[in-house]
Amino acid sequence: MELDKMDENDWKYHGEGNKSLVVSHFLAENNLNSIKSEPTAEQAFRHIPNIVDYSKYVMKPLLGEKYVHSGEVVKLPLDFVRQLSLKVQQERPELRCDKVMDTFSGCGLCLPNLTQLPLHHLRDHRPPICVEIKPKCGFLPFSRNITKECKRKVCRFCMHQHYKLANGKWKRLSRYCPLDLFSGSKQRMYVALKNLLEEPQNNLKIFKGGELIFSCKDDAKQQLELNDLIQHLRPYFPHSNGLYNGHQPGKAVLNEFIQVICSALLSGGDSNRSGEPRKVHLSESKPHCEASPFPRDLLRNGNQGLPKDSVLAKILQVQMLDNLDIEGIYPLYKRVEQYLEEFPRERNRLQIDGPYNESFMDTVKNCPAEDDGSVEYAVGKVHQYRVAMTAKDCSIMITFAPCEENEEHQLNLEKPRFTYSVSILDLDPKPYEGIPHQHKLDTKIVNYYLRSTQAPP
Ligand code: ATP
Ligand code: ZN
Ligand code: MG
Ligand code: MG
Repeated sequence: MELDKMDENDWKYHGEGNKSLVVSHFLAENNLNSIKSEPTAEQAFRHIPNIVDYSKYVMKPLLGEKYVHSGEVVKLPLDFVRQLSLKVQQERPELRCDKVMDTFSGCGLCLPNLTQLPLHHLRDHRPPICVEIKPKCGFLPFSRNITKECKRKVCRFCMHQHYKLANGKWKRLSRYCPLDLFSGSKQRMYVALKNLLEEPQNNLKIFKGGELIFSCKDDAKQQLELNDLIQHLRPYFPHSNGLYNGHQPGKAVLNEFIQVICSALLSGGDSNRSGEPRKVHLSESKPHCEASPFPRDLLRNGNQGLPKDSVLAKILQVQMLDNLDIEGIYPLYKRVEQYLEEFPRERNRLQIDGPYNESFMDTVKNCPAEDDGSVEYAVGKVHQYRVAMTAKDCSIMITFAPCEENEEHQLNLEKPRFTYSVSILDLDPKPYEGIPHQHKLDTKIVNYYLRSTQAPP
């Protein structure tokens, strides 16, 4: 694309996060531009290349080549960005509109549009369906630094729900529990996904042909209830339309849809001789969360482990680099801070704010297991913690479309058959400076949970 000929009218609103505006080109739908909101252009030009490096040299090796698409830095004419942000203002969902973004810099990120399938030719009239899941942390902390026993029994997501409800962030509790999704048990994953569909909050979005068709209930003008979603999905599961006719219309469609998502989440090559994918058990902690609505008596077979190369296993493995918990990390952060106060020039050598290159990655990988009291140990653990935080905040994109026989990458279902792709998105580095805030937030969430659930009668 020629930069000096960029016209805001060729672009449309695609979506946004807390710090970015994502736009797509009308004609080149397989590419997106993510324009980051930063206080100054100078900060943007420092930060955005950092995001790309972090994705390329840190997250990609950890999560796997096939799941991560790092994108490229693009320099955008300032005038174009200004016009574009005015133009898309009316396309933004109402919920987001109270949020004024900092000025957009002239720096952007060009990414493949993961809501589309690159090789999906127009052989079929049904456009790709994309499911975006922000799974959050999938394990219970096991660190001996933990001071509150409830953190070993109830997961962070479930505790955080109560705090968010009290603060007006959401109006209803979500019954989704990440530990169910990461369990590897089809039954528990089914329940987790069903609960996401019932209360998506910002953990689930569904796109059809690149357009958002289902997301959190207070978001988006085009908000659709579950029944409307079923209408969208019917053409993809034609043979299930006749099932359960009458009393539970649409239930079979939803059921099959959830099974497609489950299969995609558990796919990932590497089978043993009997054709069963090799399973890994990653967590040393209790495999279920006491706040999950999944029936306790069905848990016996509910922890089967995840196929080794599945997207969920990859993400969980990186999340678990946080093996000291924020309660163990905070004192190490203070050790680093104290050291930097004395030797401010060391900040660069220790790569506190990047660059995120192979040497940063070495520190993450080769951090000693035992604390020798050194600043190097503290920095290594802090780096690991930040990498884990990125994996706790990323999204999974599952995009599928009906396909003909004999195509590659097919989900192993009877019928219908789908071409699909699975990717991981939103792999921004989490700031070093955010650690004190994380520590405070953890205390607040846990204390609020204890007060609200163990209040005297
Ligand atoms: P967060 O608040 O979650 O940290 P963020 O500011 O880091 O968000 P992203 O999560 O990267 O921004 O992007 C915001 C949204 O834009 C995503 O949730 C997704 O729906 C959409 N999006 C971003 N990148 C892509 C992509 N490559 N393909 C398709 N959709 C995308
Ligand atoms: Zn939970
Ligand atoms: Mg995001
Ligand atoms: Mg982000």
